[in-house]
Amino acid sequence: MRIYLDHNATTPIRPEVVDAMMQVLRGEFGNPSSVYAEGARAKERVEVARGQVARLLGAEAADIRFTGGATEANNTVLFGSLAPGDHVVTTLVEHPSVTEPLAVLEARGVRVDRIAPDEHGCVSASELVAKIDDQTKLVAMIWANNETGSIQPVAEVAKHCNARSVALHVDATQAIGKCTVDLGQVRVASLSSSAHKLGGPKGVGALVCPGGWALPPLLYGGGQEKGLRGGTENVASIVGYGVACDLARTEGVARAEACGRLRDRLWQGIESQLDDVRWNGGPGRTLSNTLNVEFLGVEGEVLLQALDLEGVAVSAGAACHSGSIEPSKVLLAMGRSPEEARASLRFSVGYGVDESQIDRLVTLLCVLVPRIRKVSAP
Ligand code: PMP
Repeated sequence: MRIYLDHNATTPIRPEVVDAMMQVLRGEFGNPSSVYAEGARAKERVEVARGQVARLLGAEAADIRFTGGATEANNTVLFGSLAPGDHVVTTLVEHPSVTEPLAVLEARGVRVDRIAPDEHGCVSASELVAKIDDQTKLVAMIWANNETGSIQPVAEVAKHCNARSVALHVDATQAIGKCTVDLGQVRVASLSSSAHKLGGPKGVGALVCPGGWALPPLLYGGGQEKGLRGGTENVASIVGYGVACDLARTEGVARAEACGRLRDRLWQGIESQLDDVRWNGGPGRTLSNTLNVEFLGVEGEVLLQALDLEGVAVSAGAACHSGSIEPSKVLLAMGRSPEEARASLRFSVGYGVDESQIDRLVTLLCVLVPRIRKVSAP
């Protein structure tokens, strides 16, 4: 039995989600735009899911637009709102689906300010808002970071952005289903989400614009999703996303607490039995499911491969970067040296993980880490 501890990369699709999707895939093939009964049924399915997503996020269903995931949602906001001469404030702990579009826009003449995090991976709200000037069109920030789990001061930044009438876009992909994301409490211009991070299928997500922000589409076509996203809706996946949101809402705090107990058990096991280890980010403002650990003197990729051979899946930074030996940009921004960043692994727990798996991992680490240190010692 494999032990899967990379739930921030993706988390298993929940059986309830598969059941709902299978019902659509097997028996309900209609196109939501068709004006006869099959179409109406598909449309109804999409609208039910829209309500489920909205309820989880404290948003209005009318403000939800389904997309092909958070990458598309982030690209839609960034390319749709920024033009040469505009200014955007962002952070150095963003996902590539924000950093890469911003790099392209910067080359086209958009001015970009990037705020560094502190040693725990959190940016300062006051430092960030101090960068806002007359040309600032947008503040783009992650709610919780995928590599360290560090939770950013979104509510505080939102207050300032609203006071100064600057749009705030939040990438809440990792936060949703793991900590409270209530758009009734925190007023943002837009928010992105991906279903597969919370027990739904891959390739579907949402862009939520609570104030009705009228962004231009990234994909022009048949005018679906009220003109924001051309293309026939991925009905089965949207239905699955809705069910995953319902599960996240009903399980709520209990899910986060269960993850927290497992994550803390893992850290206690590591810290009490291995020397020269450090929790990147620390327990403070961190998602309860995420533990990023530096094993001093260990090449993270080597430990990752050794764990894989023993049946354990973990990550050395972001999934999109695995396979490369580049040190994590997020850890570098937190002040780690390239060697320290390369010595770090991310463990993220979620659905299906239990205490015996955590204990097995600790046992394995206690064998593998000293062994790797011994062979790689100068
Ligand atoms: N933002 C964050 C914070 C993420 O962790 C991810 C997925 N790794 C994305 C955006 C992109 O999600 P997707 O690949 O599903 O579009």
